[in-house]
Amino acid sequence: MKIYDVIIVGGGLAGLTSAIDLSISGLAVLVIEKDTYPKHKVCGEYVSNEVTPYLERLGIDISDTKADPIQKLTLSNLTGNCVETDLPLGGFGISRYALDHLLYRAALSKGAEFKFETVSDIVYNDDQFKVKAKDKEYKSKLVIGSYGKRSLLDKKLKRDFIQQKTPWIGIKAHYRNEDFPQGEVHLHNFNGGYCGLSKTETGAINLCYLAHYQNFKQAKSIDEFNHYHLAQNPYLKSFLETSTLEFDQHLAISQVSFQKKNAVENHILMAGDSAGLIHPLCGNGMAMAIHSAKLISDEIKRYQVHKRRDTLEENYIQIWKKTFQKRLIFGSMFQKILLRQGLTNFSMSLVSNSKVLLQKMIQQTHGKPIL
Ligand SMILES: Cc1cc2nc3c(=O)[nH]c(=O)nc-3n(C[C@H](O)[C@H](O)[C@H](O)COP(=O)(O)OP(=O)(O)OC[C@H]3O[C@@H](n4cnc5c(N)ncnc54)[C@H](O)[C@@H]3O)c2cc1C
Repeated sequence: MKIYDVIIVGGGLAGLTSAIDLSISGLAVLVIEKDTYPKHKVCGEYVSNEVTPYLERLGIDISDTKADPIQKLTLSNLTGNCVETDLPLGGFGISRYALDHLLYRAALSKGAEFKFETVSDIVYNDDQFKVKAKDKEYKSKLVIGSYGKRSLLDKKLKRDFIQQKTPWIGIKAHYRNEDFPQGEVHLHNFNGGYCGLSKTETGAINLCYLAHYQNFKQAKSIDEFNHYHLAQNPYLKSFLETSTLEFDQHLAISQVSFQKKNAVENHILMAGDSAGLIHPLCGNGMAMAIHSAKLISDEIKRYQVHKRRDTLEENYIQIWKKTFQKRLIFGSMFQKILLRQGLTNFSMSLVSNSKVLLQKMIQQTHGKPIL
């Protein structure tokens, strides 16, 4: 049986980017992903430009896609109080349907192998991994866990965060609205949640929101929830009234968890959301997933020389904390502020009077360009 240098469990942004980076370095890489590409995913689809230089270095030029370059953020609260600011680094709007597919094709072209199966267990023994999927088994020296926010694998690995239920639900759909401004990402508050709007490469507007289950369960359907809860915000009301739904139905995910996680679990190197999810309002989860892929790939390349697993794991834990921990703390603070209505009105009026404050909030939850 072939023994891979690295098996990557989950081919989302973190998994695919590591597959490209490690394949370019000549490592034998297998990605095991449960779904085929292309596929829509619940996500705000705004990507910070901090990842652009790194993606270019891997041979991926976002300007080849029709992604919408974004320079401006508009933020509003329930009463329609609104503030606009330039985004220091900017970003781009692209659907996960297009982005994941683009990275998949790049990984294939660099020599990564793919299996479309659901991984049911990852066992470490005798300095080697056995990765089990259905009735098959694959072997490798290293495993990257990039299987996203929450998976049955977390239960198998007895990860602490999986024991706790979380009240967050994510909903997303594409809409057609010719009046939506070019080059802007919007974040609109509603009772018990917030909703992002941004243009994608097809010209469709991605509407994606995070809502508290307590509020959500009162509605009979997503349409009803949109009508009664989202539409409390005048911006969202106007958007919903003047837009046409492009999807057959909205996509939904539940149990979105922001609990603390470990970057290494039973010798598996965790990347992207499997290592920690930042609150979506920060618009930085995708950049963090791609950045964590770079950190892991760099450490694995060093491991190819020193061959010490303990050094690899310690170094990755340290660099992960140094790079992301502060962002997660600030993200959690901002989410609390934005979701407490009394405070929101106060903080929104503060923010609307001070673009400097809003810029600071953005800086604290974003990184510098990854070179
Ligand atoms: C509502 C919401 C809005 C968001 N908006 C934004 C935004 O605008 N900007 C931003 O930067 N970030 C945003 N994020 C965060 C962003 O979506 C994530 O941080 C990012 O997708 C993480 O990428 P990943 O590669 O870690 O995981 P994913 O992209 O989720 O990939 C994980 C992959 O693993 C696969 N998988 C899972 N289990 C298994 C298994 N057992 N076997 C095989 N494969 C498996 C899945 O099919 C999936 O393809 C948002 C998140 C939410 C919830």
